[in-house]
Amino acid sequence: MSFASLGLSETLVRAVTEHGYTIPTPIQTQAIPAVLNGGDLLAGAQTGTGKTAGFVLPMLQRLSAGPRPHGPRPIRALILTPTRELAAQVEESVRVYGKYSGLTSAVIFGGVGINPQISTLRRGVDILVATPGRLLDLHGQGVADLRKVDILVLDEADRMLDMGFIHDIKRVLKLLPPKRQNLLFSATFSDDIKKLADSLLNNPALIEVARRNATADIVAQKIHPVDRDKKRQLLSHLIKQHRWFQVLVFTRTKHGANRLAELLVKDGIPTLAIHGNKSQGARTRALAEFKTGELQVLVATDIAARGIDIDQLPHVVNYDLPNVPEDYVHRIGRTGRAGNPGEAVSLVCIDEAQFLRDIERLIKREIPKEVIPGFEPDPHAKPEPIQLRSQGHRPGQGRSGAGGGRGKPQAKSAAPKPATPGNVRRFGNPLGTGHNKPSTRRSSGRGRG
Ligand code: AMP
Repeated sequence: MSFASLGLSETLVRAVTEHGYTIPTPIQTQAIPAVLNGGDLLAGAQTGTGKTAGFVLPMLQRLSAGPRPHGPRPIRALILTPTRELAAQVEESVRVYGKYSGLTSAVIFGGVGINPQISTLRRGVDILVATPGRLLDLHGQGVADLRKVDILVLDEADRMLDMGFIHDIKRVLKLLPPKRQNLLFSATFSDDIKKLADSLLNNPALIEVARRNATADIVAQKIHPVDRDKKRQLLSHLIKQHRWFQVLVFTRTKHGANRLAELLVKDGIPTLAIHGNKSQGARTRALAEFKTGELQVLVATDIAARGIDIDQLPHVVNYDLPNVPEDYVHRIGRTGRAGNPGEAVSLVCIDEAQFLRDIERLIKREIPKEVIPGFEPDPHAKPEPIQLRSQGHRPGQGRSGAGGGRGKPQAKSAAPKPATPGNVRRFGNPLGTGHNKPSTRRSSGRGRG
């Protein structure tokens, strides 16, 4: 299967080939022809599957084929994402794949100055990537005219709902023309997503690709049992001994991320923490340095890490296990992507035994355990309750760190749920309740855990 055989134009094929892609991923093989057809799409795919090119490429082709309106360009495609990082990365993909298309794009999100965004929108762009809150602010100021939008994409729709963006999304939908193509991408299908899909999509094509927990075979997973107060020494030891570079470390809380980063720096390991309390500039800088390898370790919370897209990330470390088992799958999806092997290690103390059981139940496998000599856990240690949120932060207080920033309650880190299997959101019949009938149903045929 080649990109050309999916019906993409020569200029788009040239752009992806120059970018190093030769074979479309499963989501691309299915989504590209479906989107080129012009109909609506409901796609179950998470970051790491190549979903971005799956919607960006056919979108570029459709916009290139249409008439070029005279005067300042109206926004003809709108891509909504939950986080600033994802928005920036999607727009970067639009630029890379669209480099020969002659189409223009822009990205807007909260947490940075609004004036440059106003100037950009005034000049006119074909494709706008946005977080919902800032988009509404700009619309309120009369600079984001959405009446000419032909194609709408909701990327990581489940995360947008998790982060409380449903009302903002509904407000944006009211600003769009009724006749348009709608594409909804979501890693999971809760009842709320089904409801949104039912109200938004018209006779959609349905696509599902294997979840990360089904494709995780290429990620080597390992547990290092360790006492809670030895985790930091163990992590330093592993990084130094194996000379790990580009290590993405997950902590449960922002406070934990900061503290760990400070301690690793004291150990002589170049480290930065990235989370919602950091300024956008600081986050962008940290990410850029991490990508070039200058920065050895990036410590992140689940929300901040969402959307971080780094090719061939070799090491993911769970410094804390997540209390929501699905986040484990999202986290290890940061490594071993697009066919490259990766390694995901988890430092697990006795307090996290239940979290581990829930994760192993979700991924339907036992993760191999390896005790590192010198870090043997105390067999008499007693479990202690786990603090699920950063100190000094109450749910609903302050701004939502990762998205458009409108004082939404934080998602998982600030509104913890008990780690029960009941929290695991899975694919059901995504449109089970609605009137819309799927026009096609294709599946990679792999289990979804
Ligand atoms: P995404 O799921 O869109 O975030 O993409 C995951 C990663 O796969 C990104 O780093 C892409 O650059 C990469 N990727 C996307 N499509 C392909 C492809 N056809 N071949 C190789 N890598 C790809």
